[in-house]
Amino acid sequence: MKLYDTRTRTVETITPQRERHLTLYACGPTVYRDAHVGNMRTFLLTDLIARLAGLHGWHTTVVQNITDVGHMADDTGLGGVDEGQGDGEDRILRQAEHEGRGALAVARHYEDAFHRDLAALNIHPADHYPRASESIDDMITLIAELVDRGHAYVGGDGSVFFDARSVADYGALSGNRLDDLRPGHKFDADIDSTKRFHADWALWKKAPETRTQLVWDTPWGVGFPGWHTECSAMSLKLFGTSIDVHTGGIDLRFPHHEDERAQSNSVTGTDVVRHWVHAEHLLFDGRKMSKSAGNVVLVDHVADRGMDPLALRLAFLQHRYRQQMNLTWAVIEGAQTTLDRWRKNVAAWATSPSAPIPDDLQQEFLSAVDDDLDTPRALQVLRSVERDSNLTDGARFEFFAWADRLLGLDLVRRVGQATAADPLPDDVLALAAERQEARAQRDFATSDRLRDELAARGFTVTDTPDGQVIDRSDA
Ligand SMILES: [Zn+2]
Repeated sequence: MKLYDTRTRTVETITPQRERHLTLYACGPTVYRDAHVGNMRTFLLTDLIARLAGLHGWHTTVVQNITDVGHMADDTGLGGVDEGQGDGEDRILRQAEHEGRGALAVARHYEDAFHRDLAALNIHPADHYPRASESIDDMITLIAELVDRGHAYVGGDGSVFFDARSVADYGALSGNRLDDLRPGHKFDADIDSTKRFHADWALWKKAPETRTQLVWDTPWGVGFPGWHTECSAMSLKLFGTSIDVHTGGIDLRFPHHEDERAQSNSVTGTDVVRHWVHAEHLLFDGRKMSKSAGNVVLVDHVADRGMDPLALRLAFLQHRYRQQMNLTWAVIEGAQTTLDRWRKNVAAWATSPSAPIPDDLQQEFLSAVDDDLDTPRALQVLRSVERDSNLTDGARFEFFAWADRLLGLDLVRRVGQATAADPLPDDVLALAAERQEARAQRDFATSDRLRDELAARGFTVTDTPDGQVIDRSDA
């Protein structure tokens, strides 16, 4: 597979360092609000790379961090939402004050919402979701090591800064040279005064006396981590000194990823991330999504309009990840129409005898997605298979089912199956979980009784090799 590497500025062949095992680190959400569809497009990039690795028969390990401390209102925004007046306040704390509850309660609420959104878009869960607030010891170790090695220093007020000039190739990722970063560029406006050089940044920040939540005691005093510190600490802890692919939104390239790279490379003495891959901006109705423009769209809004969130996934796939994309409601509605037609066709083809997928079509699809995830071209292959009357229905069914392993659009879906837009009720889920447990214990009497209870509520259960599948009986 080939991907565009932001650092080398070329499309590179990706070869995992460990034989047939790809390691992926994805910058995750700052959990102070619902992720919008632009964020979801970025998260989808990681899923596509992991699924493509799967098509090649590789294993994957995916880590995505949860930022629940240290991301300040005037740090570069995740996904481009305009945060209004940057005042150097921690985003989680500001939201906690706004909602009148504790910082971690707010963080966990939005973290749960993030996982629901991922599931609605068929984005496979990562193997690990380390939280910044639970990785403080690792960050302290990292910072102490950087100080020892002469890459960081303690400023006058007890904050610890990274010495940007100690890294020879600082700027390699973003193209920003230290000379070009003029003093006054907003890095850490609140504590600027105690650093030695304008482009240095805080690895650890001394907390103001008024701050009572999300603070930790360290050798340098009571404070909290800088946002860039966490991704180095967590990725090094979970992956050691090498990561095959690091993903994120293009707006994270600088300063977040540039600084993370400087930290990780300085502490290990090696270039830790082998390939940096960034997803482009998403516009909605031709404009950057922002609270002030009133055009922030969430996954829930798609379901609220009676559409399948997977129509959103298809709309994303109609554009290559590193192409700026203008999303509109008409685009999502168009994708829903295509999705409905494909599912109906696939259901009709499913009744025909199975037939092998023609090799050339499979190759055409693979060469499109291998070529820097050219998903628009891959979708063209599906359209030509759909139209090609020389193919048997059985072959068409097999092709769509196979391609869906990468596309993740639930193209092979039985009528009546619950969808993200029409989820199963909680009591049904509880009964299903109980039945799963009973089956695991080989307690078939209980499992049959629970099947009857589900039937009485209007749901049928089918046992498949992947576990039980629940359908609405009436559909
Ligand atoms: Zn990050």
